[in-house]
Amino acid sequence: MIVIMKVNASQEAIDKVQVEIEKLSYSTHLIEGATRTVIGVLGKKPLRGKQHLQSLPEVSDVLEISTPYKLASREWKPKDTIVTVGPARIGGDHVSVMAGPCSIESYEQMKTVGEAVKAAGGHLLRGGAFKPRTSPYSFQGLGVEGLKIINQVGKEVGLPTVVEVTDTETLDVTTEYVDMLQIGTRNMQNFTLLKAIARQGKPILLKRGMSATVKETILAAEYILNEGNDQVVLCERGIRTFVDHTRNTLDVSAIPAFHRLSHLPVIVDPSHAAGKRHKVLPLALAGVAAGAQGIMVEVHPNPEVALSDGPQQLVPEDFLDLVERVRVVAKAVGKELD
Ligand code: PEP
Ligand code: MN
Repeated sequence: MIVIMKVNASQEAIDKVQVEIEKLSYSTHLIEGATRTVIGVLGKKPLRGKQHLQSLPEVSDVLEISTPYKLASREWKPKDTIVTVGPARIGGDHVSVMAGPCSIESYEQMKTVGEAVKAAGGHLLRGGAFKPRTSPYSFQGLGVEGLKIINQVGKEVGLPTVVEVTDTETLDVTTEYVDMLQIGTRNMQNFTLLKAIARQGKPILLKRGMSATVKETILAAEYILNEGNDQVVLCERGIRTFVDHTRNTLDVSAIPAFHRLSHLPVIVDPSHAAGKRHKVLPLALAGVAAGAQGIMVEVHPNPEVALSDGPQQLVPEDFLDLVERVRVVAKAVGKELD
């Protein structure tokens, strides 16, 4: 960060700003120009105090040079982070497959999908128990009963599980039953929830907010890392744009952007981006081609009667075909699915 003093600021004012910077536990480096002095703010701590410095009367401007996040940054940790969920390893040169229904609806539904995900070579079983629905009249999920179902099926088919946590009230019970906790797009900036979920010590799938920038998404991850939990996977799931041919626009360009700025694994969710089944396959392939280290896909044995997101869920046969094609693309870009 650099602090630019006002033109012809007095030595007294410069000294005063230096003292304020030092109070924030940074050291300073002065660059004196003909009419203006610039103070370099040096230190290894994450950036803070910008607004305070900006408000000092003799300060003209404060500019950030390094990133506002630290623990999640590639500068801080150049090597890719690998997130471990049971036997599954997410990140690096591996492409992970997470799949399952939008909502957990019954044991039979979950068992059919669980077996299909396992048979296709998937690595994690997903399902929603507490559903964040746009309408209060839509199916809200089976709650704890759903957690018990996915827990049982996960064990029976031999797959670790991932379920979304929507609030702090249901956090403990969800942690009890599942292996990986998901933060959905609507909660990406629920900082209280991010801190609470981080402290559970389980791996976390953090979905990008539907209107969040790449920087804001990494800052949300920083909240989790700052609580001592570095097992975070970022998920690009489509953003709100002006187009109406698709539910959300899968921001493929965010994948290399995340990789450049952060060491955390990045996966894509083509299902919630597509909104329609026929777009799920091309978006999954595009995501992996662009460097995604995994996919999360919604699968249902009978999407016509699904209680949520029916139009975007794949039947098991189409999912199997998708995994086979993803395997080919993964290989083409130097990664492996198995
Ligand atoms: C989900 O994965 O079940 C979900 C609701 O996704 P998102 O938060 O991306 O909408
Ligand atoms: Mn869904």
